[in-house]
Amino acid sequence: MKKLQGIAVSPGVAIGEALVLDMEGFRIPRRFVARDTVEYELERLEQAIESACAEIARNRDAVTGELGDKYGAIFEAHLQILQGSQLRDELEELIRERHYSPEYAVSRVMRRYAEVFQKVQNRNVGDLADIEKRLLRQLLGRRREELAELTSPVLVLAHNLTPSETANLDRKFVRGFVTEVGGPGSHTAIVAAALEIPAVVGTGPFMTEVSGGDLVIIDGDKGWVILHPDEETIARYRHEAEQLRSMAARLGELRDLPAVTADGVRIELMGNIEFPYEVDHCVERGADGIGLYRTEFLYLGTDREPDEEDHFQAYSRVVRTMAGKPVTIRTFDLGADKVPNLPSPEDERNPALGQRSIRLSLRNVPMFRKQLRAVLRASALGNVRVMFPLVSTLLELRQAKMILADVMEDLEERQIPFRRDVPVGIMVEVPAVVMMIEHFVEEVDFLSIGTNDLIQYTLAVDRSNKDMVWLYNASDPAVLKLIDKTVQAAKRRSLPVNLCGQMSGNPLYTMLLLGLGLRQLSVPPSAIPEIKRLCRSVTMRDCESVARHALTLENARDVTSYLRRELNKQRSEFTA
Ligand code: PEP
Ligand code: MG
Repeated sequence: MKKLQGIAVSPGVAIGEALVLDMEGFRIPRRFVARDTVEYELERLEQAIESACAEIARNRDAVTGELGDKYGAIFEAHLQILQGSQLRDELEELIRERHYSPEYAVSRVMRRYAEVFQKVQNRNVGDLADIEKRLLRQLLGRRREELAELTSPVLVLAHNLTPSETANLDRKFVRGFVTEVGGPGSHTAIVAAALEIPAVVGTGPFMTEVSGGDLVIIDGDKGWVILHPDEETIARYRHEAEQLRSMAARLGELRDLPAVTADGVRIELMGNIEFPYEVDHCVERGADGIGLYRTEFLYLGTDREPDEEDHFQAYSRVVRTMAGKPVTIRTFDLGADKVPNLPSPEDERNPALGQRSIRLSLRNVPMFRKQLRAVLRASALGNVRVMFPLVSTLLELRQAKMILADVMEDLEERQIPFRRDVPVGIMVEVPAVVMMIEHFVEEVDFLSIGTNDLIQYTLAVDRSNKDMVWLYNASDPAVLKLIDKTVQAAKRRSLPVNLCGQMSGNPLYTMLLLGLGLRQLSVPPSAIPEIKRLCRSVTMRDCESVARHALTLENARDVTSYLRRELNKQRSEFTA
């Protein structure tokens, strides 16, 4: 049994068989094969070697034709290694005698060759790595596409998953996932919460310790991944999973009760969604609206840009289902770690500081207008609000509003119905906006604080980097002060202000946020019941005193331990 510590990004417990994807997306099967399948595995190896040889011979001929014999000789050398009897004999022995799978045998033997080459000849071992990859490709067949063809439940263990790969995981069969890299604020983590499956990221390397089909436990609450668990651990986790199910059922009873504090202050508790189907999860949990609809997920995992109708279909489903409750549609926030399969700007050294979000919209006006038309058309069906992400300057806001007004005129001319008074707001996620907040509040109808990015840009720390979690912290006093300043400015103008970053779904921060004056919180749908229960158990007087004290503390560690103490006090009073 081996326990890995990672970063918990989506709660719950999952127990099941691993599907392991290595750095290049290859699926790593079992390392050992059954005695009675040895002949079959040897046949598989033989076929893989033959196909790899044919591929290399084709490359040799093509390169010789284009560049001459000297370059073709590189491939000839690869062929000789692969066709030589020594390599085959060694592979065969490992499969026959030690029952290694052909993939495992290839990795072991080729790595050993590479070591010898490097030691004895101090030579570049790139050629051997190339042969190894070619053989593995033949043996493993297709890569991640297999993820789309699952037929039984699995836990995906991968080096990395992009947000769009995560978004395309088959919810029917993928019961949890773990990645070696990735940080708490990454969109991969956010999508895990949307899929409502336990997930842990940033565990560090595990590829050599686990193979496909091994039993694994993912503890999405503590951030643990347990490889090869013993019987006692499996039994304990089965029991825990059962308890979590019954707790979820109890929290379900809160569905139709409002999020109102014990002293009568009504909190609007809304859902963050990435996919239209999640609107059902919001309704099931009694959400007061959709506080953040991350529409960029319409662009991820597809090879063509969504057209106006694709947008409209998605939005109208959400708006109709919410039946008059607010739906905040954020225009596409692409870029940084959310990269569509569409032609994109040239490589950027710092994509999180580059062409992302509203900046991309303003550079791709036809694409932006297409989305705005659909949002406006959906506004005729219910209570829609438009929100622009990652605004940094007043000029950007004004440009975006001008394009919106222009699209409105266009719709009016064509007599297409929409709401002219659709509220327009911005995400507050760049410190520059907070510095200029007194001006921004004059030009918008609402604000929504995006702490995921606000933390990143305030502390100059990459939200997706597992090695920076010590600094990426919502408890940082600088972040609290920026939230406070934003809420105060909104209050002076009686503007609604929401907080939709991940911190709002963490019970640790609920008292603090209410005490700072927030009356709207937007959280992943799965977090609604617990945050609602907490809102119903606290008084605003206590929350205000917590916020006042937290604002006097000078580092994140002190803020976190203070909030933890207050939360525990609250929970023990509530259950006493
Ligand atoms: C945020 O930055 O807090 C936010 C809600 O937006 P996203 O996580 O999609 O960047
Ligand atoms: Mg953001």
